Amino acid sequence: MTVAVSADVLSRLKAVLGEGGWSQDPDRLAPKLLEWRDRWVGNTPFLALPGSTVDVSAVIGICHEAGVAITPQGGNTGLVGGQIPQGEILLSTERLRAIRDVDAFDDVIVAEAGVTLSAVHEAALAVGRRFPLGLASEGSATIGGVVSTNAGGTAVLRYGNTRDLVLGLEAVLPNGEIWNGLKRLRKDNTGYDLKHLLIGAEGTLGVVTAASLKLFPILASRATAIAAVDSPAIATRMLVRAKDIAGGAVEAFERMGRQGLEFVLKNIPNQRDPLTEPHPWYVLIEIASGQPGTAEAAMERLLSEGLADGLVRDAVVAQTEAQAKALWSVRENQSPGQKPEGATWKHDISVPVSQVAHFIESASEAMRAFVPGCRITAFGHMGDGNIHYDVIRPDGGDNARHSALRDQGSRMVHDIVASLGGSISAEHGLGSMKTEEARHYKSPVEVAALMAIRQSLDPKRIMNPRVLF
Ligand SMILES: Cc1cc2nc3c(=O)[nH]c(=O)nc-3n(C[C@H](O)[C@H](O)[C@H](O)COP(=O)(O)OP(=O)(O)OC[C@H]3O[C@@H](n4cnc5c(N)ncnc54)[C@H](O)[C@@H]3O)c2cc1C
Repeated sequence: MTVAVSADVLSRLKAVLGEGGWSQDPDRLAPKLLEWRDRWVGNTPFLALPGSTVDVSAVIGICHEAGVAITPQGGNTGLVGGQIPQGEILLSTERLRAIRDVDAFDDVIVAEAGVTLSAVHEAALAVGRRFPLGLASEGSATIGGVVSTNAGGTAVLRYGNTRDLVLGLEAVLPNGEIWNGLKRLRKDNTGYDLKHLLIGAEGTLGVVTAASLKLFPILASRATAIAAVDSPAIATRMLVRAKDIAGGAVEAFERMGRQGLEFVLKNIPNQRDPLTEPHPWYVLIEIASGQPGTAEAAMERLLSEGLADGLVRDAVVAQTEAQAKALWSVRENQSPGQKPEGATWKHDISVPVSQVAHFIESASEAMRAFVPGCRITAFGHMGDGNIHYDVIRPDGGDNARHSALRDQGSRMVHDIVASLGGSISAEHGLGSMKTEEARHYKSPVEVAALMAIRQSLDPKRIMNPRVLF
């Protein structure tokens, strides 16, 4: 339902944004109103396309005064619906595309909110540095989006989440005021830290307009491999062993099952089965080091010891950059590969690493009893205990029937997660999809404190009102 916004507010917004700074054209709006998995279709009376932080401030100032709600949007790759407006004004950061600075002395890059993650990678490489946050969606996901969702990705094991990579932020608060906190300090211990409130706030505490981000050296040696193992429990043993052998040099440790790989081979063009025989589970391991040859040596030792004592059934090590990309491609296409298979209940959960195998066993037993014939993919960032646990309708089954059971099935999965001390959202956030579910599991004390913070910064609740508590 589109909420009526007064003609006066619309004409004031048009005046401050100027030509090219707004749209009400349905064709221009359409791609921004559809979520990546086609799960949410939104609507909005007005698309604001601010070209500067000052423009963002003007838009939010007008909306604050008039009590008009806003949904911020970056690359529209979010997976929990938070970026899809349901009647709010849509504020897109697509014109905030400047890289303001890249500095190899301070090891920092300052990028505006609408810069894509891939563009940040390229700008860092151009000065001989690296920004280590990696997502399969990095060609579209933006800095404002990754900051606002505290995105995780493939290298969290070594570098942490986005929160660990942000040195400073510039943002417009819900009353329209600009906060310039674009520091580039590694140490700044001066009480409450506003940037940490905004990171992961999913657009509820203001609009992030720019961020200063940590850069890292480019590592001289890198080894990428896929190894086949018999079970998630053995995959966990391989993770522990990889950390022991490579020290802090394990960059990524991802897991996927045969079912997910088969979907990729069937539904995504130009993909190859990495090994000659099928196996029930696979781990993708990446080791990287500053010393030439050491990553390769650590990988060789890890795999040869694993093969010798029967933990690893078979393995392939990439010999070229192109081969490494091909191995990553089957991992990164796990989500797109299952999309054509029909209705899916998606879970982005985490449990302590020691509980990953137990979770997969318990949840799969429960799901197979609940929906006989359902197809399960359990892939993701195993090194962080993060599992993308997806339950797809039976082959040839009915989408509507499967979707109707989603809430009940997801509650069963989340109850198992909670019983293991886990989280119902490891890295995608809560958005409009999981806020109510999170309320069920969070303590009332915590929810009340979080609501008090929001109320104090945004008393009219104009910023992404459907998202978070
Ligand atoms: C194929 C695929 C793979 C993915 N892999 C991962 C993964 O490995 N790890 C992971 O963490 N996520 C992953 N994601 C999810 C998604 O890419 C991330 O959540 C990403 O951070 C979203 O960025 P975005 O620019 O697309 O944000 P959007 O989708 O546009 O917005 C996401 C949220 O942030 C808010 N927001 C956006 N920009 C701003 C801003 N400037 N200021 C304030 N609020 C803002 C929105 O209101 C919304 O609530 C994946 C998605 C896809 C499609």
